[in-house]
Amino acid sequence: MTTPVELEFWAEDKALADRVGQEVLAVFHQVDEQMSRYREDSEVSRLNRNAANGPVTVSDGLFQVLDKAREVSILSDGAFDITFGSVGYLYDFRAGKKPTEEELRSGLPRVNFRDVILDRDAQTVEFRQTGIRVDLGGIAKGYAVDLGIERLVSLGIRHARLSAGGDMRLLGDKRGRPWYVGIRDPRSERRNAVVLPLEDVAVSTSGDYERFFVDEAGERVHHILSPETGKSVQGVQSVTIIGEDALTTDGLSTAVFVLGPAKGLEMIERLPGIDVVVIDDQRMMHVSEGLVPPQTD
Ligand code: ADP
Ligand code: MG
Repeated sequence: MTTPVELEFWAEDKALADRVGQEVLAVFHQVDEQMSRYREDSEVSRLNRNAANGPVTVSDGLFQVLDKAREVSILSDGAFDITFGSVGYLYDFRAGKKPTEEELRSGLPRVNFRDVILDRDAQTVEFRQTGIRVDLGGIAKGYAVDLGIERLVSLGIRHARLSAGGDMRLLGDKRGRPWYVGIRDPRSERRNAVVLPLEDVAVSTSGDYERFFVDEAGERVHHILSPETGKSVQGVQSVTIIGEDALTTDGLSTAVFVLGPAKGLEMIERLPGIDVVVIDDQRMMHVSEGLVPPQTD
């Protein structure tokens, strides 16, 4: 993963602490080998090569991620769609490269999550047409963070903070105090827009500042794409989701980014136990009801 992983935790002794660090890091390497689209030999790349020819049997982990991706696609009416990768691969943010209108027109018919058929009993995946590429960049880090937390728990750790890029999960509190989680000001690396006291939750942020370039017309071309147009979504600077597990919050943060503040908040208010902070392109903050302080009069 092209992402810094951060882990903070308490352990009884140094030997255990070393082992914990190594095992959690190994989890991230394992998920990267499984789900990276940048590796020819990953399970996802194999799926992308073969699933149009018939059902492909996949691992428990990959099936779980694909199943959650589908759930978030349905919830967001297609705003979250891992088949965005059918045009997403035409972008290179580091090189400042984006597809032409013609390339987009020919790729967009292959962006449709309904063309990825999951068979839960057989644990297989099949694509309904050739040329589909799934890209798990909007959801796999959350999965890795959840697995890392599972590993920490199994090693007896009770207080920890684990993050991979914009996806974080807190285990317990910070030994008697809450963890303070900053939501970054999308236009300043050093400033927080808000700081939240939290414990035992997952927190995911999607921003337009992670991977982007500014094109010849002065438009910000960034890594969250509309499945309808194949272009970077405008109108939002960042979305932070708070929920129970990072697989869900990761998928939802990308989904709300694409939906925008109005539709995004509407979706979140329908989901129990999930909250959201949206910072729009006017730097206005929109929060879900669970984060509004109680009124006193
Ligand atoms: P990050 O932590 O990398 O900022 P996000 O959760 O914001 O991650 O996801 C951004 C990534 O999601 C992109 O790099 C891309 O791989 C993927 N993505 C972009 N647009 C969509 C979309 N409409 N649906 C699903 N995934 C997307
Ligand atoms: Mg995400």
